[in-house]
Amino acid sequence: MGKFCQSCGMPLKKDPQGGGTEVDGARSTTYCSYCYDKGTFLHPDATLREFQAECVKAMQRDGLPKPLAWLFTRGMPQLGRWKT
Ligand SMILES: [Zn+2]
Repeated sequence: MGKFCQSCGMPLKKDPQGGGTEVDGARSTTYCSYCYDKGTFLHPDATLREFQAECVKAMQRDGLPKPLAWLFTRGMPQLGRWKT
């Protein structure tokens, strides 16, 4: 897959862990460590809207202005996890 997390859209190279992990501990090249750990999603029951709100909050904690954080989540419906 691409070099962006297919759940939140973060560039995988910006992930301090370099990506999430599969069940066997292998590095995921699809999802980041904030979304995916040991083969499961960390927010398994979240809807897209809830997850977007979570991501905006997380980015604000990192010091990003809310409008910019909001903008970054707009592409999420196109990502692998949410596309139907
Ligand atoms: Zn992610």
